This record gives sequence, C-alpha cells and structure tokens, in this order.
Amino acid sequence: MPLSANNPDRKSWLHVDKNSDFPIQNIPFGVFLTRDDIITIGTRIGDTAIDLGALHQLGYFKGIPLTEDIFLQDTLNDFIADGRKTWRLVRNRIAEIFDSENTTLKNNKKHKEIVLFRLDEIEMQLPVHIGDYTDFYSSKEHATNVGTMFRDPDNALLPNWLHIPVGYHGRSSSIIPSGIPVYRPQGQTLPADAKEPVFGPSKLVDFELEMAFITTDANDLGEPIPIEEAEEYIFGLVLFNDWSARDIQKWEYVPLGPFLAKNFASSISPWIVTLDALEPYRVEGPKTIKPQLDYLQYKGKKSFDINLEVSIQPQGAKETVVSKSNFKYMYWNMAQQLTHHTVNGCPVNSGDMMGSGTISGPTPDSYGSMLELSWRGEKPLKMKDGTERKFINDHDTVIMRGFCEKDGTRIGFGEVSTKLLPVFNPKK
Ligand code: CA
Repeated sequence: MPLSANNPDRKSWLHVDKNSDFPIQNIPFGVFLTRDDIITIGTRIGDTAIDLGALHQLGYFKGIPLTEDIFLQDTLNDFIADGRKTWRLVRNRIAEIFDSENTTLKNNKKHKEIVLFRLDEIEMQLPVHIGDYTDFYSSKEHATNVGTMFRDPDNALLPNWLHIPVGYHGRSSSIIPSGIPVYRPQGQTLPADAKEPVFGPSKLVDFELEMAFITTDANDLGEPIPIEEAEEYIFGLVLFNDWSARDIQKWEYVPLGPFLAKNFASSISPWIVTLDALEPYRVEGPKTIKPQLDYLQYKGKKSFDINLEVSIQPQGAKETVVSKSNFKYMYWNMAQQLTHHTVNGCPVNSGDMMGSGTISGPTPDSYGSMLELSWRGEKPLKMKDGTERKFINDHDTVIMRGFCEKDGTRIGFGEVSTKLLPVFNPKK
C-alpha cells in the first residue's frame, strides 16, 4: 500500500500558511463538535477542519470498505480498529480530494459548505475512548536526573533500566484534551525534616513533556507482538503533558511507584498525527549502552525526529519557552515499548494510549520537567514578565508544541495547552 498522501510535492486548494503544522502531507485525525452541535470525526488542512462524516455521506470515500457510520462517531476507536490498510486508503483519498489539481469538491460550493469549518466554529474533543493508559520511563537523561535527585547520584539509573523499557499502568479517566483546565491537587506529603505526613495542596505541581502513541487491536490474551510487527499496531501520536505533583510523588512512590501524584490529570493534543505521516522523519535512536535481550532487538530506524517545546504563560503575560527537547532522545523506542508490553501476553486494544515518559535531552535547557529544569527548585527559571518559577503557579498555562521538518515539509502536532487552577473549591 503506497503512502501517496506523503507526496512532498502535493499542494492543496485549501490555504495553508508557510509555517502551518497541518499541510496536506499531514492529514491527522480528530473528533470535533460542529457549529450545529454535531459530533464528527474529522481532519485538518491548514486552518480548515474537514468533516469526514459528511464527506463519506456525500460519497467521497467510494470504493474504500468503510461502514456507513464509521466517521459519525464520538471516538476514533472503530476506525482505528479497521487497521493500517484502511487508515492508508482514507489518508490517500483525503490527499486526492484536496489536491490543488482536483476540482471535484473545490468547485462544489454546496458540498464545501457542509464539509468545511473554520477552527473557531468547532470544538475539539478527546479523539479516542482510552481503555487503558500505560506510561513508560524511557528517557535515560530523565531517569538519571530523577534518580540523582530522589535517590542516589552514584546509582541514579537502577540496574534494570538498561534492560527493560520500564513502565507502569496509569489511569485513563483523567486524560483530557487541550484547553480543559486542571485543579491543583491535594494529598499527603512529608515536609522536609518532618516525621509525620500532612494533608494539603501540592506545592510542587509540575508538567512532564511526553508524547503518547495510540494503538489498534493488536493481540489476543497470551499472544506476544514480535518487534518487527509492533509498528503495524501504532495508529499515531499526540503531545502529552503528564501532570505530576512532585511532593506527593516523593512520599507515596515507594514501593509500588506513582499513584495519586500522577493520576489527577494528563493532557493531550487533540489531533492524532499518524505514524504514516511521520515516516519521512525516521532517525537512528541513541546507541545502546548494554546489550538488549533478543526480543527487544530491532532492525532499521525506529526513532523519530520530532522537535518539542514547552512554554509557561503566567496569567495576563507573554509566554516564556522553558524547554526545547526532541522525541529522538528516547532510549527505548515505541516498537520496543509495545513489544515489551505484550511479551507476557498482555492484550492491547484499539484506543489504548502509551506515554513515552518525560523526554529530557542531554543539556539542561532540554529537560522535560520543572523538577529537572529548576533542579528541585534550586535554580528558579526567569519568566519574561520578571517573575520566577520553580514549579507551576496557579493560573499559569503550560503549552507544549511539536513538529518535524525536513526538505521544506513540516508536519506538526499543534499544541496541548492547559491552565492550572487553584485547589478545587466546592463553594464556588
Ligand atoms: Ca509520566
């Protein structure tokens, strides 16, 4: 199945700004509410949202085996379950419909009125029903930094880390799309020099710069996914802010790992960029430090060159970029993560989400959390408005962006933007 949708020479008859994350080579998938209060599955070219449910009803996907209501749903799960061949046929067809040489829809004013929306006419929703969410811990720099701060600088990386893509099962009920604010969580912490814990608002609310991939139905109970097949089951990726409360985390995480410090909210960008669209941006991953067991050994390029950036915007002020990182820094890649996840026979379903773990680069300005950027609060960051940040303040908005660029084609993810509100007050 050719990936004709990726043709870098193709232009669209829809307007696309030069620096847009969404040229006709991207064609991501999302779910939105239209101006008529109808939920539909859609895509985006430039700043135009496209109603795929309406396009399908008007016959534009003729010849592709799709059920009639596949895009008239409030999640992408069924479409994702149709598998990679169908995703490719649909993406290729969308590229043809909006190709500057194709006048069928371009010259049909009535159809265009039904199918096309300005971004201010729609409201993006969570794109998938996330059954299960798993979070990995796959950046060596992040694991080393956290191990240094929380445990022991001399043994920062635990002995299993170079052998296992370490992960834990997270909570999907609190995964939210960009734009939904988050309350500062409360919980138990152990203040410095105290012997007994106290209850109250977390004082150390942090972001984690991650990406997450979304899977299709991959395997039955008991059946491992071999590494050479793993990418077949990855639909696409989103930006992922895995909110964390560091003081709660420090007190609770031994012996079973993160719990309430992590499950109060995780925010995602609403457009899922397909693994197919990212194909041109494959790169070699970091060199392995220790030999890896056979089932984790792979051939070819399994890492992706995705530029990542985090900004903090205090209320009423300009945003300040606090980190620039890259998805390619991940020591364990997605194929290894999914293979490891299923090696014991754990089944993976359509719409499951796998977080990469915080993506820290090798230099202090590329760290993926405030914990690392401010080094536990010892080195506050200066904001453009003159204030300082050790962690995230109430009313701050954290914005993450990501894009790939090569030979003049830019494929991006848009942004995930989330405001931190003060502790929930039931009287208000
Ligand atoms: Ca995380």
